[in-house]
Amino acid sequence: MNARTFEVAGLDGGRVGLTSDRLERFGSMLEGSLLTAGDDGWDEAVGVWNAMVAKTPALVARPASARDVAAAVRFAADHGLLLSVKGGGHNIAGTAIAEDGLTLDMSLMREVAVDPVARLARVGAGCLLGDVDRATQAHGLASVLGFVSDTGVAGLTLGGGFGYLTRRFGWAADNLEEVEIVTADGKILTADREENADLFWAIRGGGGNFGVVTRFTFRLHEVGPLVTGGLTAWSADRADEVLATYMELTASAPRTLTAAAMIRLAPPAPFVPQEWHFKPVVGILVCHCGPNAEADLEPLRDLGEPLFDVIGEQPYSAQQSMLDHLEPKGMHQYWKSEFLPGLSGAYLDTFRDAAEGVLSPLSFSIVFHLGGALNEERDGGAVGNRDAEFISGFTGTWRPSEDGGGIVAKVREGWERIRPFSTGGNYVNFQLAEDDSARTADAYGDGYERLRRVKSEYDPENLFTVNRNIRPFR
Ligand SMILES: Cc1cc2nc3c(=O)[nH]c(=O)nc-3n(C[C@H](O)[C@H](O)[C@H](O)COP(=O)(O)OP(=O)(O)OC[C@H]3O[C@@H](n4cnc5c(N)ncnc54)[C@H](O)[C@@H]3O)c2cc1C
Repeated sequence: MNARTFEVAGLDGGRVGLTSDRLERFGSMLEGSLLTAGDDGWDEAVGVWNAMVAKTPALVARPASARDVAAAVRFAADHGLLLSVKGGGHNIAGTAIAEDGLTLDMSLMREVAVDPVARLARVGAGCLLGDVDRATQAHGLASVLGFVSDTGVAGLTLGGGFGYLTRRFGWAADNLEEVEIVTADGKILTADREENADLFWAIRGGGGNFGVVTRFTFRLHEVGPLVTGGLTAWSADRADEVLATYMELTASAPRTLTAAAMIRLAPPAPFVPQEWHFKPVVGILVCHCGPNAEADLEPLRDLGEPLFDVIGEQPYSAQQSMLDHLEPKGMHQYWKSEFLPGLSGAYLDTFRDAAEGVLSPLSFSIVFHLGGALNEERDGGAVGNRDAEFISGFTGTWRPSEDGGGIVAKVREGWERIRPFSTGGNYVNFQLAEDDSARTADAYGDGYERLRRVKSEYDPENLFTVNRNIRPFR
């Protein structure tokens, strides 16, 4: 590091000057590392999944332990620095990065320890979903996680987290047993249902507002190792018939079956006949992790004459990474979605019409089934939204070299059309940077005021502000 003063963004909107000596002393306290622009690993540390996010921090700390995290949080608080926390960097609002501030990149903390007898996994906060699925599947176990394997466990779980196992076991956050967390005062705490119970309630959905989680303990379930899953599709000309069958299928599906309906231009994947590449198709994505899969999937087979059908037995870990290639890093992303209390013919007609407008080579429109364990209250975290049976919306995606204005307009138009069907809630983890605080409040419904109380207790100065922010009472 050269002898100079670093200008870093302050929490109060101003600038904070840090001498290189001061930074060196901070860096030497860390078992991990402190990076500035140009250092090895910098580009990877500051990169996020949505290339629309044009933010860069001034400093990156890469903690290797909870003690490192505590030192970094104290350093940020003492100097009044703008602070952010990066898990997998997948948040499309770009909340992983503190513009010109200090970003904690958790990627060195990627250990997973599975206790197959107690059926628990202790997971470092820098883990990606694939790290956890690989380690737990080695014992025929799994917890609820999402369906793209390089998504971060931390951001996904702290915002709720859903995937193919949600209908059986609820939100990812419902499956948390304990966290280790560094709060704004730099203390390392354990939070669970007995200890710091209010904090434990808040972090199960309230995102990164309450501290930096350094370790998650997840409850595990027997899953796989083989499941029946994959994708099948028809020409979009048959959308009405396929969507009606989807509604029928989901109405009677056991909780072991999760299905999603998608409308998009067919990708040039090896399993798609070449003459269908980039043509409009309606697809059904399934994961069945119980007995009688073939019988349960009969309504789909009865539709007949799909363009392709790659539904079959495969390892659960393959199912969990099956969509990775359709969701590449480095594209521009603009998403809008809503939770739905159920499906109806009127909804599916509206969805189909709106989806036609969103068609472009990388974009897609989706209805994903959630109903089941998620609808049960359990010991509830802040994530709420127990009335959501489906999540549905539009994922606008284009290359950085392209003009996405038309796609943004169509995604917004589609979203406006489906809003009347919403539960009134929305998924905080799918919010965009442009979404306002009212939309964040809507994501929590009645739980929002309680979240503000917990925030006021644990982070009264709003040190953890680069997120879908829950403001403390002043
Ligand atoms: C391709 C793709 C697929 C997705 N699929 C799913 C899915 O199947 N199911 C689903 O539920 N969601 C899904 N999501 C949404 C996903 O849950 C969010 O994008 C989530 O924020 C990603 O977590 P991350 O750690 O990668 O994010 P990051 O961008 O790294 O972090 C997001 C925020 O999480 C908080 N955070 C991260 N780490 C910590 C920590 N250790 N302590 C405290 N706060 C922390 C911070 O506030 C940070 O700003 C998907 C997103 C993408 C891009």
